[in-house]
Amino acid sequence: MPKYISEKSFVERIYWLIRLRWVAVVSIILAVSFATGILKIPLVVFPLYAIACIIAFYNLAFFIFIAVQKNRESPGLFLLINKFTNLQITLDLYFLAVLIHYSGGIENPFIFYFVFHMIIASILLSRRASFLQATFAVALFFSIVMSEYYGVLPHYSLKRFISYDQHKNLIYILGVYFVFVSTLYIAVYMATSITKRLRGHEKELRKANELLNEKDRIKSEYVLRVTHDIKEHLAAIQGCIEPVSSGITGALNQKQKDLLSRAEQRTEKLVFFVKALLEITRIKLSKHIEMDYFSLPKTVASAISFVEARAKDKGIIINCQIAAEIDKIKGAQIYIEETIVNILVNSLKYSQENGKVEIVLKDQGNTVLIKITDNGIGIPKDEIPKICQEFYRASNAKAVEKTGTGLGLSIAKQVVERHNGRIWIESDVGKGCSVSIELPKE
Ligand code: ADP
Repeated sequence: MPKYISEKSFVERIYWLIRLRWVAVVSIILAVSFATGILKIPLVVFPLYAIACIIAFYNLAFFIFIAVQKNRESPGLFLLINKFTNLQITLDLYFLAVLIHYSGGIENPFIFYFVFHMIIASILLSRRASFLQATFAVALFFSIVMSEYYGVLPHYSLKRFISYDQHKNLIYILGVYFVFVSTLYIAVYMATSITKRLRGHEKELRKANELLNEKDRIKSEYVLRVTHDIKEHLAAIQGCIEPVSSGITGALNQKQKDLLSRAEQRTEKLVFFVKALLEITRIKLSKHIEMDYFSLPKTVASAISFVEARAKDKGIIINCQIAAEIDKIKGAQIYIEETIVNILVNSLKYSQENGKVEIVLKDQGNTVLIKITDNGIGIPKDEIPKICQEFYRASNAKAVEKTGTGLGLSIAKQVVERHNGRIWIESDVGKGCSVSIELPKE
């Protein structure tokens, strides 16, 4: 694999090569049928169709090999796939040469299709390997035309297409061969130069992205330290306010009580905000989240019971439907429960009294879908794409609920993404909101 190609895009390109080969197999069959059936060129069809079958067979084998290897993630895997790519291109060149031999040799204009293989090699392989493949193609072609010239191999002429047997015309052979060789090397030179430059840009972008991630990590560590400090100071402030407001330190007049109660409320909100900030920062910084099998229906039931009192206060009934097939999934149970609680709390917070909240769990084979829907204030359509960003609160929400961290959904997004899941929101202002989470079972 050339140094400038990332492992993921390299595998994607191998799949692209495999797809191209399917197109080539179909094209060979169509071209042979057209040449013999419509143009009435007397080709020896059996070896040509046989070659198409062989190519289809090894293409299938390559496809299975890559699919199996891709999931193994063993060290040295890409070195192995790289060697395999070299082998694929070598085989392609070989069978193209055999195909050319059975269909006119030097007389067949399809000899220039070798150029496509050179371009493919330049994209997938290193420059050195591409030039080696070009040399292999040149040597292969030379041995075929010269063997046909000296009668070592039979010549299958393209009667009706070329009237004169060119395979015995040395001047013609050398002329075509010269153009062939120069075309192949020039194609490799040009394609590898362009690819290298493009990959250079890709590498720079990847580096810039890594740098940004590193800066983000440093910022998160800083936030973690600061919020941790703030949390401790807040706990100390709460510890001081409590004995005073409860009257332990002496009787208070109404004015003092009111002021202390406001201070208590503000501190509580600040503690809540700092805790949320600490949590999202911790999730971001943690490289690994402990995962185990847990019962999703039980987790949902526990989340509902956590918010039940709040729902009752607002006269809201939480309706829950869980598909019978759903049981255990693999994940971080505490985080998933907290995520469901966060979303349910939002549904209650942004719904009118006597509203409706529904939570539905569907089995989707390898994944489960958790959908929480309410008929509350909803989110303006143009704000939905920004709603999971940290600290973002929709314009209509601020009017209903003055305080809010704007962190609940971004924590939910982090948690879901750490589980390789998806979260998305659908909403209409005034009609309600639904938050869907798709989680893999494993
Ligand atoms: P907040 O503390 O503000 O609720 P969240 O991150 O949980 O923070 O939610 C971000 C914003 O998404 C909210 O401020 C609100 O604008 C919007 N939102 C989330 N859930 C709902 C919902 N069920 N109905 C309407 N708006 C919602």
